[in-house]
Amino acid sequence: MGIRENVKVILSELPKDVILVAAIKQRTTQEILEAIEAGIKVVGDNYVQEAERKYEVIGNRVKWHFIGYPQRNKVRKLVKFIDMIETVDSVEFAQEIEKRCASLNKTMPVLIEVNSGREAQKAGVLQEDVEGIIKQIAKYPHIKVQGLMTMGPRFGNPEDARPYFMETRRIFEEIKSLDIPNVEMKYLSMGMSNSYKIAIEEGANVIRIGTLIFGERKD
Ligand SMILES: *Cc1c(COP(=O)(O)O)cnc(C)c1O
Repeated sequence: MGIRENVKVILSELPKDVILVAAIKQRTTQEILEAIEAGIKVVGDNYVQEAERKYEVIGNRVKWHFIGYPQRNKVRKLVKFIDMIETVDSVEFAQEIEKRCASLNKTMPVLIEVNSGREAQKAGVLQEDVEGIIKQIAKYPHIKVQGLMTMGPRFGNPEDARPYFMETRRIFEEIKSLDIPNVEMKYLSMGMSNSYKIAIEEGANVIRIGTLIFGERKD
């Protein structure tokens, strides 16, 4: 099947309140436009320069999420056109976003990335640190924490990812119940091509899908 059909099939099976983010790393502008014509409303990229180049062509006909780890000196460029950063995992990163958004007089919605698998090489905040980090970031006037994101460990069998999604959901509800000022726990971004159905069962309302829309990547 082609990109168009892939998007239509996924969208037709999604619950209405779930946002599909098309993960566009390494995809051409042509491929992305095809996905947009089929109904994609939000795209997510991992690389600042790549995203910026695509944004110049595609513009605001979709929302732009960032799902990568930018070098500090690229954050200034990033916040100019990005609508949400899903991968905030340190106060330092947030501080840089705050500084750059303040000078643009813009407020950036962010998700806090949780390292739910406690994997040494993975980005994200450990579960016991999530509350503390959110409380610190909540003080920044140009940032709005709107939820959590997790990747979870990669498994051949997506069912194995379920406990990590459940755990992230638990933290999400816990933080929500705290009613922290300037924090609005609204989005839970979990699940990729192989695991999104399980993520939705466990409460995800944002899913990030690349392969299932565009086919296998070269990496
Ligand atoms: C690439 C990527 C995805 C999509 O992965 P697929 O397995 O291709 O669906 C989702 N989230 C992040 C953060 C990514 O980098």
